[in-house]
Amino acid sequence: MQGSIEEQDALWAEAVAYTRGRSPGSFDQWFSGIQFDGLTDGVLGLRARDEFVREWVDHHFLPTITDFIRSKTGWSVQVAWSVGGDMKKPVAEPVQDVKPVRAKALAVGEESTRPASVRPPAPPLEGLNPKYTFANFVVGSSNQLAHAASIAAAGGGGPRHNPLFLCGGTGLGKTHLVHAVAHRVRQERPETRILYVSAEKFVNEFVQALQDNKMSEFRARYREKCDLLLVDDIQFLASKTQTQEEFFHCFNALHQSDKQIILTSDKYPQQLERMEERLVSRFSSGLVADIQPPELETRVAIVRKKAQIEQLDIHPDVVLTIAQSVRSNVRELEGTLIRIAAKASLQGKTLTVEFARQEILAASSVRPTEQNVEDIQRIVCHHFKLRSTDLLSKDRHKSVAFARHVAMYLCKQRLKCSFPELGRAFGNRDHTTVMSAVRKVESLRTNDPEVRAHLEAIERKLGAAD
Ligand code: ADP
Ligand code: MG
Repeated sequence: MQGSIEEQDALWAEAVAYTRGRSPGSFDQWFSGIQFDGLTDGVLGLRARDEFVREWVDHHFLPTITDFIRSKTGWSVQVAWSVGGDMKKPVAEPVQDVKPVRAKALAVGEESTRPASVRPPAPPLEGLNPKYTFANFVVGSSNQLAHAASIAAAGGGGPRHNPLFLCGGTGLGKTHLVHAVAHRVRQERPETRILYVSAEKFVNEFVQALQDNKMSEFRARYREKCDLLLVDDIQFLASKTQTQEEFFHCFNALHQSDKQIILTSDKYPQQLERMEERLVSRFSSGLVADIQPPELETRVAIVRKKAQIEQLDIHPDVVLTIAQSVRSNVRELEGTLIRIAAKASLQGKTLTVEFARQEILAASSVRPTEQNVEDIQRIVCHHFKLRSTDLLSKDRHKSVAFARHVAMYLCKQRLKCSFPELGRAFGNRDHTTVMSAVRKVESLRTNDPEVRAHLEAIERKLGAAD
């Protein structure tokens, strides 16, 4: 089916409506920079205002759009992009409800340059990491929107969205960005009443206030005496229905008075489980900005920046080696740098590429998330001084059997393997053999200190469980 031009235009309109429905908070912002140039025989013509918009839309929205068209027509859609030029008919109107920007724009990544003498020191704020500033945050395409939106939310220019919902995997800089907002606002407008809490702390304070009959103080603090509310890890409200209810009213009160709210979460609003629908819809009503794992160039820049902050003098090749080795988590990236630098310095060695490689290799062989059955078998054999084939053999010698049972137990604890899978991985044994081995070690662990000591020693070698 190819369809007439009218049919294909209608299909595009449907795809737009569908995609807008899934990202109501950010669709119009991005698609005001996109023009539809026709859909002909499975080729979708799009024009982007600039390269940044093209890349963002391509990455974040097009999979949804092309999947939608494919589901309706069976086409595998090709996209023909053009960039720049005349944009007479953007897909969306420029966002209307942009709030007036309150403060003079600061250059990205720059802290206030006004002399301290004209500005009284801002009051201290509990729980903020002084290193989490905009100046220490490395911007790349994986976090560009979240960064720009945070600067805007801090009053530093650009459209301000309320709420700003920052989401992304663990260790990708969400907390860093909210602290940076708080630092910036404290510096620029010390009179602003900022509340920074983790959702966990919010829950605890709420429960305490209920117990102590101090709900009116609690409400005054969060609804009236606050100009900027920053709540970290909002996913923690899952299942806490009473706190969700309270947070809903607090959110509304602040939002109605145009007080900025920034929330962070490890998931998109729609993916939050056991969260009231009305909250989910409030969360996505402003801008949802996600942070992706950084690409190589950004990782290199982050390692460089961190080395500079920690005053470590590291060869660029070593920086590159580290950046290549840790991909998905900035916290881990930093941890690797610090660990390797500390180890080289303790051992009085030069931090060479070879040294870094070996350290990374040694660490990755015990990284729990990447372990498989063979890794656990290898480490158990090493601990009991057995050959790796012993665990798979028919050897029923007591010490071999014990090591085998321990390995089965650890595999069951740490990997998502079924009993039959484990049976196969241990020399084609029956799944009931694995079950009884696991049960036996579980009970020995509780009752026999020597077994417990063995297990703990092996577990240290395997690395902490997730
Ligand atoms: P999250 O809250 O998303 O789990 P954090 O904000 O705690 O992550 O970040 C983890 C660590 O990584 C922090 O030390 C932070 O400074 C650092 N980090 C993350 N992203 C960046 C970045 N873009 N530039 C510099 N440091 C970063
Ligand atoms: Mg965090």
